[in-house]
Amino acid sequence: LAGLILGIALRQRDVPVTIWEAGHYPRHRVCGEFICGRGMKVLNALNLIEPLSGNGARKATTTAFFAGRNGSPVLPLPEAALCLSRFTLDATLANEFRRRGGELQEGKRWTDSTTREGVVVATGRRAQTRPGAWHWFGLKAHARNVELAADLELHLTSNGYVGVCKLSEGVNVCGLFRRRRNAAQRSPREEMLVGPPGSALFARLENSEFVPDSFCAIGGLDLRPPHDLAPSECRIGDALTMIPPFTGNGMSMALEAAALATDPLEQWSLGQTAWAEACQRIASCCDEAFRRRLVWSNRLHTLMFFSLLHPPLIRTLARWPRAWDFLFSHTR
Ligand SMILES: Cc1cc2nc3c(=O)[nH]c(=O)nc-3n(C[C@H](O)[C@H](O)[C@H](O)COP(=O)(O)OP(=O)(O)OC[C@H]3O[C@@H](n4cnc5c(N)ncnc54)[C@H](O)[C@@H]3O)c2cc1C
Repeated sequence: LAGLILGIALRQRDVPVTIWEAGHYPRHRVCGEFICGRGMKVLNALNLIEPLSGNGARKATTTAFFAGRNGSPVLPLPEAALCLSRFTLDATLANEFRRRGGELQEGKRWTDSTTREGVVVATGRRAQTRPGAWHWFGLKAHARNVELAADLELHLTSNGYVGVCKLSEGVNVCGLFRRRRNAAQRSPREEMLVGPPGSALFARLENSEFVPDSFCAIGGLDLRPPHDLAPSECRIGDALTMIPPFTGNGMSMALEAAALATDPLEQWSLGQTAWAEACQRIASCCDEAFRRRLVWSNRLHTLMFFSLLHPPLIRTLARWPRAWDFLFSHTR
């Protein structure tokens, strides 16, 4: 996503761009498929809202939180968000990139140096290399026959959370889960996504029909900030840093990072700035743009895994809707 958006933005300025993509389009990805926050401005600036809407993107304006069977009232999203399957989103952006003269090499994995001048690393999440107490993994599927109270619902469980958001056809069900390293637990993926019996999540999904081809999973997620970035490396999106998924802000950060990288990379391509200087500028702009929301969302992410705090969180959101505005504005 970050790579395609950067490619589109640079093509708009006539900078030659080749994208090496290890996979192929279209394809399903583990993602809540909910774009909110400042990334919407980037899509607007690049005139991408229209092609995305034409391919089924749906506006989301409300949200609600659940823990067990208890839920918050339906809360307005401070800014409208966009819901679209990654299957369609990524393929639409790939077409736009090609239409604007970009060269997209699908099925080609970059194996050369990532510190070479002109190489931007937009390879997505960094696999967990440092041992931790927990193994983090994500699951995603599309489902039909699901009634939701809000456009986006977030359901908290003891070892994870599941977002359910309305798409133009059916819903996206996507969860982040944790398991103790080396634990024997092996629940079937459907069981993890539908939540424990008696919960509001279970009630939503017990009569749903999952779309078999849409199931996907991702493991070895590293939610801690990176510690080994090379100074002459240019990284954007999850390859730079990953925000906890409950914020629904990862795609926005990928889009924003691409936008922040556009000016310095254009200047480098015109010979107006050195590569190391361009990389440094991009890194410091991203740091400034993302630092506060990363701090807040990492704190909240830790708290969300204390089940005892779930009921007070739901009560707080029910009594003080302003608490929601506060949380939203500090994590986007
Ligand atoms: C459970 C979960 C739920 C989420 N829900 C949301 C949500 O609702 N809203 C939201 O905004 N964000 C969400 N996110 C985060 C979001 O999916 C990511 O932040 C976003 O996809 C990052 O985009 P990216 O371009 O950096 O990486 P990606 O979209 O992962 O793209 C990286 C690309 O690089 C390719 N690649 C990797 N290595 C190479 C190589 N060596 N050579 C060539 N190609 C390579 C991959 O094939 C891939 O296509 C969620 C994440 C998880 C785990």
